[in-house]
Amino acid sequence: NATDSSSAAAKSEAEGDNKAADDDDKAAQSLLNKLIRNNLVNNTNQVEVLQKDPNSPLYSVKSFEELRLKPQLLQGVYGMGFNRPSKIQETALPMMLAEPPQNLIAQSQSGTGKTAAFVLAMLSHVDPNNRYPQCLCVSPTYELALQTGKVIEQMGKHYPEVKLVYAIRGNKLQRGVKLQEQIVIGTPGTMLDWCSKFKFIDPKKIKVFVLDEADVMIATQGHQDQSIRIQRMLPKNCQMLLFSATFEETVWNFAQRIVPDPNIIKLKREEETLDTIKQYYVLCNCKEEKFQALCNIYGAITIAQAMIFCHTRKTAGWLAGELSREGHQVALLSGEMQVEQRAAVIERFRDGKEKVLVTTNVCARGIDVEQVSVVINFDLPVDKDGNPDNETYLHRIGRTGRFGKRGLAINMVDSKMSMNILNRIQEHFNKRIEKLDTDDLDEIE
Ligand code: ADP
Repeated sequence: NATDSSSAAAKSEAEGDNKAADDDDKAAQSLLNKLIRNNLVNNTNQVEVLQKDPNSPLYSVKSFEELRLKPQLLQGVYGMGFNRPSKIQETALPMMLAEPPQNLIAQSQSGTGKTAAFVLAMLSHVDPNNRYPQCLCVSPTYELALQTGKVIEQMGKHYPEVKLVYAIRGNKLQRGVKLQEQIVIGTPGTMLDWCSKFKFIDPKKIKVFVLDEADVMIATQGHQDQSIRIQRMLPKNCQMLLFSATFEETVWNFAQRIVPDPNIIKLKREEETLDTIKQYYVLCNCKEEKFQALCNIYGAITIAQAMIFCHTRKTAGWLAGELSREGHQVALLSGEMQVEQRAAVIERFRDGKEKVLVTTNVCARGIDVEQVSVVINFDLPVDKDGNPDNETYLHRIGRTGRFGKRGLAINMVDSKMSMNILNRIQEHFNKRIEKLDTDDLDEIE
């Protein structure tokens, strides 16, 4: 029957999206985050520090001046608009710049200032008079390496004697060449080849080794081994630095193989909460009714900007079309888009060029658009077994302490099954989700 086959189609399409979620790997997510990020994420948590030598004093700085940086670098830092060190930089920078150099493993969510920190450390440690590689930085992908390279260029803007080269596939050098650049940034495979097979780099002269995005790195076949092989060629007194946004057991094991005798810095991500969110649900029978309910809501309340989540690409595309026909300025974020295209869509939405962003979960995971006050779950978040996906629910509508502005979340329910899911979400968070009658919307404001 028609209903069955259409729901089967929806299911297989959703699976397509889940599959895309896996393919749309951590590296793409990380790149998206970097492309759309233009400042530090707020974090009110305290950093946890575990020192290699617990008796040595723990320095932390509140200003960049205290670090006694080269004037050219201080100029570079201020030129980027940084006024003071971020939370993680307060402790990480003095550790990385200390003499003798200290090893460091640092974990904090993306956007907390890790890249800026290790770039500053690399630039501080190189001797521009020596025309050979002194710092190696490995990143999981070509695109991520380029992003870090851009930060090196920006921060080193007033220090032009320091040069940078990319060890990435496609960057072919002539046999027998010896690199003159002080900083080499690239992916593990090419970096390894350049150190061993081609000998463009003399690993024994490396003073700083940075491994960025360790969690993304180990998700890629082969990267872990290649990184370890590079590390083994480096001198004992080379400073080893490793960064990661998350820290599961596997990441931790890898980190310990890359960084001997480490200092460890961790910054917990800010908890999200539903406390400042008014949650509602609307009962409907089909997607057309859900769309009608949405129109009624738009007719009744002023919505500056909203994000609408759908389960499948197909629904998202359909809904975006319907909303456009109603005269809304709609942005659509879809699984088949390139990371750069997605970043552009999110940026336009952030700039207020569109007022509604329709998306599937896959595309919007982990992005925060602070000014969005209304989130609509056109479809409730479920995992691949059809159980409520509480974590995703919280990510979509939850707010962190700092941005505790009041928000509104509206959930569309269109079957017994989705009512059941809603109830389970309500129980899980122990927060009431109130019924909303979209033919009588006085109560909502
Ligand atoms: P991570 O590597 O942890 O993702 P980044 O170093 O890329 O974080 O920093 C995130 C954003 O914050 C970037 O846009 C960066 O330019 C900016 N940033 C980093 N450090 C500071 C600082 N001390 N003050 C202001 N902005 C900063």
